[in-house]
Amino acid sequence: MASITLKNIVKKYDDGYPAVNDVSLEIDDGEFVILVGPSGCGKSTVLRMIVGLEDITEGDLLIGGDRVNEKAPRERNLAMVFQNYALYPHLTVFENIAFPMRLTKGKFTEEQVRENVDRAATMLELTEHLDRKPGNLSGGQRQRVAMGRAIVRDANAFLFDEPLSNLDAKLRGQMRSEIAQLQRRLNTTSVYVTHDQTEAMTLGDRVAVLKKGILQQVASPRELYEQP
Ligand code: ADP
Ligand code: ADP
Repeated sequence: MASITLKNIVKKYDDGYPAVNDVSLEIDDGEFVILVGPSGCGKSTVLRMIVGLEDITEGDLLIGGDRVNEKAPRERNLAMVFQNYALYPHLTVFENIAFPMRLTKGKFTEEQVRENVDRAATMLELTEHLDRKPGNLSGGQRQRVAMGRAIVRDANAFLFDEPLSNLDAKLRGQMRSEIAQLQRRLNTTSVYVTHDQTEAMTLGDRVAVLKKGILQQVASPRELYEQP
């Protein structure tokens, strides 16, 4: 995993109005940062600039200390964990996790593929489910398969874009504690976007509050909770 640094990042869309305005943020290697704020405040724009799906108008983006503004998404090696998980329904959990290694033809022997999948499955408590298809898994298990895929390709960081927003309240609560547990165990660098206060206050090491494109505050959940 790697650190992610935003230095005075500005994003202007065609209308010229800054959707993201001079945002600076340092996310340490292994840190879980929540980006929270109301709809339209620029959260997705920040995430898309980090992944490389959106050009950066001004400022510098560093991953592991290297400037990546002009680098293609592939080269940034970040793992988006999507709401719909983007798993292959016809492949087993094993093959879903192995998929990124299969793409790099010849780089991994069959034995290394098995070793890496087994290691990720152990970390994510998926060992019992390796022969199943995604359709037979719970939402939380599917999310873990998606994360397993990122782990085997040694991604620099996980990026979550409102991963729980379409779930009902009960499932959302379950998934929230699953993600919190995983984070404690895995120590992955993660940026997690949400408009949900509860997620913001329970999941992250630090919370970055965005409003109208401007970073208002960056603090631990405890500091935010205790402030007057
Ligand atoms: P959030 O994720 O917090 O809901 P967004 O990053 O989607 O916020 O949007 C921030 C602002 O930028 C909004 O005013 C939105 O309308 C605008 N915006 C987002 N995407 C585009 C785009 N592709 N073209 C023009 N304006 C955009
Ligand atoms: P989210 O809440 O995830 O940001 P939105 O409904 O705001 O979703 O935006 C959905 C898509 O529409 C995004 O890809 C965003 O870039 C685009 N979008 C948002 N606002 C605008 C806008 N003012 N002009 C053009 N595209 C926009």
